[in-house]
Amino acid sequence: MSKSRKRKRLLQDDGGDSKSPACNGSTISGGDPYPELLRPTVDECRDVRDALLSLHGFPPEFASYRRQRLRSLDGHDTQCSVDSDEEEESVLDGLVKILLSQNTTEANSQRAFASLKAAFPKWEDVSSPILGFDMVLVAEPNSVENAIRCGGLAPKKTVCIKNILSRLQKERGSLCLEYLRVLTVEEVKTELSHFKGIGPKTVSCVLMFNLQHNDFPVDTHVFEISKALGWVPKTADRNRTYVHLNHRIPDELKFDLNCLLYTHGKLCSNCKKNAARPKAKVASPDDCPLLGFSGLV
Ligand SMILES: [Zn+2]
Repeated sequence: MSKSRKRKRLLQDDGGDSKSPACNGSTISGGDPYPELLRPTVDECRDVRDALLSLHGFPPEFASYRRQRLRSLDGHDTQCSVDSDEEEESVLDGLVKILLSQNTTEANSQRAFASLKAAFPKWEDVSSPILGFDMVLVAEPNSVENAIRCGGLAPKKTVCIKNILSRLQKERGSLCLEYLRVLTVEEVKTELSHFKGIGPKTVSCVLMFNLQHNDFPVDTHVFEISKALGWVPKTADRNRTYVHLNHRIPDELKFDLNCLLYTHGKLCSNCKKNAARPKAKVASPDDCPLLGFSGLV
């Protein structure tokens, strides 16, 4: 695949569309693009969540984020919490993990992140004013690429990560994104939109997973299922879907419903992106509980 096609794929995976001004993270907010479409209803959101929870259980890979969210809602400072030995992921680690997850499997992106942290354990050494060559910011691109190669698109992802670090170093003098924790959703969107290579889906994931905001990212799986269920028109794009769903889905259901739709989209042969639609005619609600909901039968 050519470099330009790979770059386009990376943008598409993040919900961006190079032809649309809406690919800028700062423009994804605003009024509901489908104000007359009164779906999903609160009951539909709850029923779909319950059906998928019965089928899959809560996905273990998101369980630690869920616990952080619950502690955060309880008003505890998760970083100082004494009743939890679970260390909270830094916002920068979270952002890099999300970037590495683009256009690859979960297993490969987890391996890529573990390999990156093994090769470059710290983003910076706060005890030393000098950045060593074991720091990603000043390391040779090739050595970073080698560390994350198993996650695919290594050169592109390396440029993106180094750009983020470079901008942080230049503008804030510190390789740290913890300052985002005290910003509003709109402020976070504006702030992250200044970093090259970070699209709206990545911003939304950081908001939901790392900053405990009630945001509802639209990845490929969520997008396809939402269209199939009739929650957005078939002609909807990812950005309009994001805005509509964030208007319609109750805040308290967003996190669980998002994790479950993502997991279901990955696992269900009926709902997988590009799955042959005729399958829906022979599958039963026992195979896919979403077949019992409008739009998939
Ligand atoms: Zn399904």
